[in-house]
Amino acid sequence: LTTQAYRGRFAPSPTGPLHAGSLVAALASWLDARAHGGQWLVRMEDVDMPRCVPGADTFLLQQLAACGLVSDEPVVWQSKRSALYQAALQQLIDGNRAYPCACSRKDIELALRAMGQPRERHQAAIYPGTCRPERGGLHGRPPRAWRFLCDAGASRVEWTDRRLGRQAQDVDRDVGDFVLLRADGLWAYQLAVVVDDAEQGINAVVRGEDLADNTARQILLQQALSLPTPSYLHTPLVRDAKGEKLSKQTGAAALNLSDPATALNQAALCLGLPQAKAQVPELLYRWVQAWRERWG
Ligand code: GLU
Repeated sequence: LTTQAYRGRFAPSPTGPLHAGSLVAALASWLDARAHGGQWLVRMEDVDMPRCVPGADTFLLQQLAACGLVSDEPVVWQSKRSALYQAALQQLIDGNRAYPCACSRKDIELALRAMGQPRERHQAAIYPGTCRPERGGLHGRPPRAWRFLCDAGASRVEWTDRRLGRQAQDVDRDVGDFVLLRADGLWAYQLAVVVDDAEQGINAVVRGEDLADNTARQILLQQALSLPTPSYLHTPLVRDAKGEKLSKQTGAAALNLSDPATALNQAALCLGLPQAKAQVPELLYRWVQAWRERWG
């Protein structure tokens, strides 16, 4: 019996420094890799270049290193991997699973309203399918973006999260034909993450629970590209005093590099691991044991 060697990753977007929330995902993914005797890779998800902050990648790596978390392989940057995403898009086009879309946000709003489905302000619009091939495609308009073509009969995805249990989503009904290449020419997170996880041989994804909702889309993409599906574990979110998820957008404070043990203990608390007063290597060593018992 051979077991496939574990390969996990931490994939931050360099839009700011590591904070208490993102350290939880970093620590959990590292512990899971070590508890399984596996490799842990860091990947910079800088496809959304306008949102990236110059130098944030270097700083993130320094913060991780101060916490004893160092990539087992050279760090890769998504901004240098366009050729891989282009090849995947071409594969989807060739398989009739992607189509160009000419609709602006405004066009989509108007189409939804015309269909009697005005959307609530908090909802993401479900693309009404105006540019779908069977509806006549671009109608002579110039293409803006590329979308994934959901197959209504096969878009219900069921998966098991190692922490959250059984999950299900009908992507066609709940999300719609999602974007692969954006109108501004940038690759969408969904495509880049699926291509990179497969290309890097990642078979275990450990990341924050705020990303759980993307998993069904990513599994559909894996299937359409004939790529394997990794296991998934979504970690608890750190909340602020108001109960809101901590994120760079809500102005979460950067981690204090001079006291990584305290920052690590906070992250460990969120993960249900015992608190301990020790140097970083000793802390990590103890938590690997505890993690193995809980999640091994
Ligand atoms: N780059 C994403 C983020 O920082 C994480 C992607 C992932 O782990 O799948 O939110």
